[in-house]
Amino acid sequence: AEQLLINSEKLSVAGQLAAGIAHEIRNPITAIKGFIQLMKSGVSEKKLYFEIMSSEIERIESILSELLVLAKPQMVHSDRKDIRNLLAQVTTLLESQAILNNVEIITECEPDLSPILCDQNQLKQVCINFIKNAIEAMPFGGILNIQVKPMNENRLLLRFIDHGCGIPEQILARLGHPFYTTKEKGTGLGFMVSKKIIENHNGTVSVFSKENEGTTIEVSLPTVR
Ligand code: ADP
Ligand code: MG
Repeated sequence: AEQLLINSEKLSVAGQLAAGIAHEIRNPITAIKGFIQLMKSGVSEKKLYFEIMSSEIERIESILSELLVLAKPQMVHSDRKDIRNLLAQVTTLLESQAILNNVEIITECEPDLSPILCDQNQLKQVCINFIKNAIEAMPFGGILNIQVKPMNENRLLLRFIDHGCGIPEQILARLGHPFYTTKEKGTGLGFMVSKKIIENHNGTVSVFSKENEGTTIEVSLPTVR
């Protein structure tokens, strides 16, 4: 099958990001302001307006919490961790979401994996982002394979393989650009933040995808003895 590959590339400049943030946050704030004005004028649809306002506030919250990760330039805590434990914790966390979406998560870890040096919470965030994207790519359910194996003596390879909608070529080119999303409730920040965290861990991320067939996210991370 024809496969498309993008390697991790440098993040866009701070100015571009700032403009994106300002734009993304101004929209929900403008909406909230408008509804407050309407409510002051004594309209009756208050319940609906409150609902829209709180969903817009939630949107601002999710944008800000993803951006906060970018504000941390380096690993905050670095500990020796077993990637298997980390994955087990993350998949447990996301189990209900997977079940609700008819997705079965199958994790295959090769034995004798060396530990990695990582900021556990940041690396968990990465796994959560990739697993959520995979679940969201399979609206009718399916299998998400997670594979871990040694790449060589100094690195391990972590793969998230979904059999979902795949990523068309023109979207693949924009993956990792801030705020690029194809989802109604997406932030378009998950991939960029994950890539940044992986790079902070001296790792790399590659994406292989084919439309209507699925996507594989491949992460390599350095190991320690
Ligand atoms: P979000 O999930 O909020 O949209 P992301 O940065 O996580 O933001 O992803 C950006 C876009 O990349 C998604 O909107 C989607 O179009 C595409 N994408 C990411 N992962 C996958 C995947 N596993 N399968 C299909 N499309 C994906
Ligand atoms: Mg996402």
